[in-house]
Amino acid sequence: MEASAKKTTIWTRFDNRHSPLLLKIDDSSPGAVLFRMNTFNPSTLSKNPLTLTTAIFLSCATLLPIPAFAAGVEGGYGKTPNATEGTVSSWPTGKKLIALTYDDGPNTKVTQPLMDLLESEGVPATFYLLGQTAKANPKLTAEIQRRGFEVGNHSWSHPQLTKLGVDGIKSQLQRANDAMTAPRPVTTMRPPYGAHNATVRRVCSDMGFSVILWDVDTNDWRKGTTAEKIVKTVLEEAKDGSIILMHDRLPTTVPATRQIIAELKKRGYTFVTVSQLLAQPRLSAKKP
Ligand SMILES: [Zn+2]
Repeated sequence: MEASAKKTTIWTRFDNRHSPLLLKIDDSSPGAVLFRMNTFNPSTLSKNPLTLTTAIFLSCATLLPIPAFAAGVEGGYGKTPNATEGTVSSWPTGKKLIALTYDDGPNTKVTQPLMDLLESEGVPATFYLLGQTAKANPKLTAEIQRRGFEVGNHSWSHPQLTKLGVDGIKSQLQRANDAMTAPRPVTTMRPPYGAHNATVRRVCSDMGFSVILWDVDTNDWRKGTTAEKIVKTVLEEAKDGSIILMHDRLPTTVPATRQIIAELKKRGYTFVTVSQLLAQPRLSAKKP
């Protein structure tokens, strides 16, 4: 194979309420050249490169800073800013930010209409994909990322990682990552069943993943759980910095999400991806 210079591409996204933007920075040409793309109209890829100054101005002018600026060789890993070696269940910022997360996809029945809903509401979300499911549905997997949602690692085949050794854990996470063909680095992982131990946490840290749990469990997968019940749980428990756990493989997912978005927006919350949440300074715990 012919040797060629490694092209560094940084994908990042920032949002305000009206114009989510996905930015691609390509430094393969002299000077930083930056292309702008409206994630909701991917065909409108700008022919005019923005200057880096314009990009910084734009990022300052919007609600959230660019979280992934510091990291991101194409196809590689990037450490989540502010990541800790422990686990993250919520990330209070004082800014009423909330992260919706969906596990076990992509799902051929639910993921598409869910993305349509989220997009029409201008709501970012994070999808924790299973590697083997992602590999079986490459177009859907690529679409999740093309539309600007965050993709996280939920292992290859959903084992309890605490029952595996270092090599087994690494293999589960690496195979899953390879199946995601992410244009942006996958920086967060959610352990199946929320099961983790010191070995799981260390391997994740070594591989550049933050271990993401949740503080609002909708229990949507339990038999007989209605959309109304899911909505009720979220509205009772969600607070600043909450990470909400749902699964995009159930008939309740879309109707529940629709109501959750409407109500939490009314309460003044802004939705972000997990990486965007972690890119914000965390409020320190109050001293007793
Ligand atoms: Zn799962």
